[in-house]
Amino acid sequence: MSCLMVERCGATSFDSPDQNALCVRMLGNARVRGQAGLLSERRGSYPVIDFRLLNTTAHSGEIGTRKRVKRLLSFQRYFHASRLLRGIVPQTCLHLLDEDYLGQARHMLSKVGRWNFDIFLFDRLTNGNSLVTLLCHLFNLHGLIHHFQLDMVKLHRFLVMIQEDYHSQNPYHNAVHAADVTQAMHCYLKEPKLARFLTPLDIMLGLTAAAAHDVDHPGVNQPFLIKTKHHLASLYQNISVLENHHWRSTVGMLRESGLLAHLPVDMIQDIEQQLGSLILATDISRQNEFLTRMKTHLDNRDLSLEDADHKHFILQILQHLQFLLPQRRHESLFCETR
Ligand SMILES: [Zn+2]
Repeated sequence: MSCLMVERCGATSFDSPDQNALCVRMLGNARVRGQAGLLSERRGSYPVIDFRLLNTTAHSGEIGTRKRVKRLLSFQRYFHASRLLRGIVPQTCLHLLDEDYLGQARHMLSKVGRWNFDIFLFDRLTNGNSLVTLLCHLFNLHGLIHHFQLDMVKLHRFLVMIQEDYHSQNPYHNAVHAADVTQAMHCYLKEPKLARFLTPLDIMLGLTAAAAHDVDHPGVNQPFLIKTKHHLASLYQNISVLENHHWRSTVGMLRESGLLAHLPVDMIQDIEQQLGSLILATDISRQNEFLTRMKTHLDNRDLSLEDADHKHFILQILQHLQFLLPQRRHESLFCETR
């Protein structure tokens, strides 16, 4: 226990014994006798701290504890550095959940294919990690990890990057919304009439696009970005500004995580292009375009899911259907309780 306390002090890297003494007082609410002495008194349940160890660390500079602390912090620094340009401060949550909560989350996942899945409850049970937990489960459930020989560490890194790039202060366009849309996408993909035509690639594209479709959303819409001459608006020439940004960000994180690095180059390019097409399909201003094409297909009775273009069009429609999600969930809830 005393080692643990010493490491914490090491992380704050005090330069002088006086500062170290102050640190010990703050930690242990104790009275310190002399610079190199032992703690003489302590109150409450605080552990005994060997003050000589602190002094050794302070005088010997980088020896031992500070280096170990640096190594422990390296992942966080890595994530932080990669997002520094976008000005995003990673939100770290230190609350650990006990097995009861995780058990309930696991139980909820056994019913992940239901329309009445409560994503807000799931987010609480997973301690705000609903998107990562859900995606890991769905990738496994659909056999994508095995099929694409995905590295679990890289997959987890990619999903954490996506989740962290959502702005938690957004009341709507946050990671819970992304998890909600992804869970709905899973419900659509398992519809028997569609499911038998889907390849593992279709499923991976559908789930990934759903998870990342609003990533790094600033919480304001395209007209606002255009009127305020935001750099994203000029970068994408006022066309599908946000959607282009979501797509480019997703591709950046895919490459940064190295998740697909083991696949052939032409396959990676195809995945990135198709992800773009699906994420751009979430642009609400394109609604008439999709409705008109769908109506034409229905009038001509020529929609065939064996045709790759038609199947991709249906995946685009599914991405677009998130705008009907609250209504769809309400109706499904009604159906399932009858
Ligand atoms: Zn959305």
